Amino acid sequence: MAQTQYTFDNPVTRYPKVSPPKDQVPEPGSDAELEPPADHGEDTYVGSGRLAGRKALITGGDSGIGAAAAIAFAREGADVAIVYLPEEENDAQHVATLIGEAGRTALTLPGDLVDPAFCADAVQRTVDAFGGLDVLVNNAGKQVFCKDITELPDDQFDRTMKTNVYAMFHLTKAAVPHMSEGSTIINTTSVQAYLPSDILVDYATTKAAINAFTKALAAQLAPKGIRVNAVAPGPIWTPLQPSAGQPPEKLPDFGAQTALGRAGQPAELAPAYVFLASAESSYVVGETLAVTGGMPTP
Ligand code: NAD
Ligand code: MG
Repeated sequence: MAQTQYTFDNPVTRYPKVSPPKDQVPEPGSDAELEPPADHGEDTYVGSGRLAGRKALITGGDSGIGAAAAIAFAREGADVAIVYLPEEENDAQHVATLIGEAGRTALTLPGDLVDPAFCADAVQRTVDAFGGLDVLVNNAGKQVFCKDITELPDDQFDRTMKTNVYAMFHLTKAAVPHMSEGSTIINTTSVQAYLPSDILVDYATTKAAINAFTKALAAQLAPKGIRVNAVAPGPIWTPLQPSAGQPPEKLPDFGAQTALGRAGQPAELAPAYVFLASAESSYVVGETLAVTGGMPTP
């Protein structure tokens, strides 16, 4: 194995700059077709029992950051359920195979998180399959750029809110009654919560909401022994970006504005999720862990 998450190398050159073509693909995009391909740690993530016996549910676990977290969780010893849209079955099966190869159980849950009934059902099916739930990662997200508020479709605003904020609420509400002491909830927010782009008004609003939700819920659940935290990624190369997440003309320089001068890879996010899910972070509550390549956050 050439490199693991423990390899000391230069973070500037650890991964090449991503300079994708300007092509746009339809939402939600596919990791299998991403050009250039992304690294989810398939060949590099080494587990060490940090989540032994845990039962995890990761939304958007088919691709991108969620896929990297799912692979890492399984290699750390967790059974992992992943939620994704039905058209993402191909990516989901790839991740499920890797979870199985790690010696853990995978559960695939295709469906639309905009439907509150599906959110509740996904939690219940995870509990039924694994005999409980200890880790919920609210990671699914919708990001579609729009340059002019007067042209931002009402249904896009609605679906962005419902995917990024409402689903987090419905999933969490369904999950908490099943969670015992030591359980953890991790929400994926974004650098967009602090440095909102002019073309991501709806999306950036949801990410600020996720930060506030995380801190308020963390205070509420900490006395019960359930920790709630968030991860704030910077620009990460995933199917979200070329599927209308960015204007085509911005893709060739994606991530160049960071201090490291390159986009991050999903594999570089996985250790943050493992840390917040594991008991190593027992005194970390209501935190937003920035993994931004140096883009400043408060
Ligand atoms: P991604 O496209 O790989 O993952 C997003 C996933 O969300 C999709 O795979 C899809 O399965 C899921 N999803 C979207 N709408 C859904 C719905 N209605 N029902 C069920 N599932 C749905 O992209 P990603 O970049 O890995 O995104 C993961 C999270 O990271 C998102 O919350 C995103 O906002 C956040 N994020 C990404 C970046 C980045 O630069 N890529 C930066 C900051 C934050
Ligand atoms: Mg996907």
